[in-house]
Amino acid sequence: MIAPRREIPFMKNHGTTSVNGVAMSKPKILVFAPREEPPETIAALEGLGCELVFGNRDWQLPRRSDEEAVVAAARDAVALMGTSMRHTPITRRIMQASQRLRIVAKYTVGVDDIDTDAATELGVMVCHAPTESNCFGVAETTVTFMLALFKKIRERDADVRNGKWRELPNFAYYVGSRQTDNFPGQTIGLVGFGRIGTRVAQLLAPWRARIIAYDPYVPPAHFLTHGVKAVDYDTLLREADVVSFHVVLNKETRYMFGERELALMKPSAVVINTARGKIVDEKALAKAIAGGRVRGAAIDAFEEEPLPADSALRTLGDKVLLSPHSAAYTEGGELRQGVAWATRSVLTALAGKIPDNVYNREVIPRWKERFGGASISN
Ligand code: NAD
Repeated sequence: MIAPRREIPFMKNHGTTSVNGVAMSKPKILVFAPREEPPETIAALEGLGCELVFGNRDWQLPRRSDEEAVVAAARDAVALMGTSMRHTPITRRIMQASQRLRIVAKYTVGVDDIDTDAATELGVMVCHAPTESNCFGVAETTVTFMLALFKKIRERDADVRNGKWRELPNFAYYVGSRQTDNFPGQTIGLVGFGRIGTRVAQLLAPWRARIIAYDPYVPPAHFLTHGVKAVDYDTLLREADVVSFHVVLNKETRYMFGERELALMKPSAVVINTARGKIVDEKALAKAIAGGRVRGAAIDAFEEEPLPADSALRTLGDKVLLSPHSAAYTEGGELRQGVAWATRSVLTALAGKIPDNVYNREVIPRWKERFGGASISN
């Protein structure tokens, strides 16, 4: 059973406790974007003597910003945790609401909705939860997208439903290389070769396709181990039959794919984005597909979510495959493991120790000076 929630703005309990008859306020943890936290999570955090306050679920709704309300709720909090709240990111102002703030812990992989630079400057750790189910779920979806595009699954299904049979335009692509006739196969281009990109390469390995990847932050040995050729970005764009994005969204990767990059690609190539919407200039991509400069795309993450009704991507028929930012949604892949990981991170930070998955690792020396070894429950 889920424990009863104290949700802003209906919070009645002011989290006071009494020591030697003097009223003391309990350290506050704000669950800014709750997602069915299990009783173990609540018990573990409250067991530290903390007061748990849950954010208003409306804060998670699209196309609104609740920064003022979140600032008020975050006042004096020692920890912030939750899933993504895309339209009200965790800004500097929200983190500045508490001098005691030690950690912002996300249930998900992406931290693009947290001002991580501000967190580092303020001496606050940002942790995330790159769980196997989440990351590998995205990799499985990516491969599914690739195969649907190469094998024209939707188009063939539509043909049969429309009374057509073996239509020439819907002949498919052989994906792997072939030894008997030296057919080279498709070149798969992975932009970003971290957890998800690497898993995509692993899943595709038996297909014997040529896999190339661009990731300047990954050591050469990692490419070698996975049989993937490291290339620069422009070479990848020129050579790949599918350009698939697996980079984190940051200042460097924001809109790293637009007109210039589209112009380098083969007209027969397709684009896949299961990473983050703002990596790709969607208007430029839609224009290039409409004009036949690239063949198509499969997109799970959009610049604006949900995808607006007037998006040009909606006008391209089967040339684009659209998915509602659900590449990681699978049975067993719910956020439970992410909640558990974030809970462990918060418990560790509140004990004055460093969790195992700090995103802004450069903050650690400063954090240790501020909170190292100091448990919240002392
Ligand atoms: P990761 O951190 O393991 O890998 C990202 C890689 O991008 C790293 O290897 C990094 O070196 C590389 N990179 C950073 N800047 C780069 C640049 N300028 N050029 C090329 N490479 C660069 O992350 P991950 O867990 O593999 O996640 C990848 C993406 O998938 C993230 O954007 C994440 O938010 C997204 N994601 C989406 C979903 C979904 O539901 N669609 C779910 C989980 C994750």
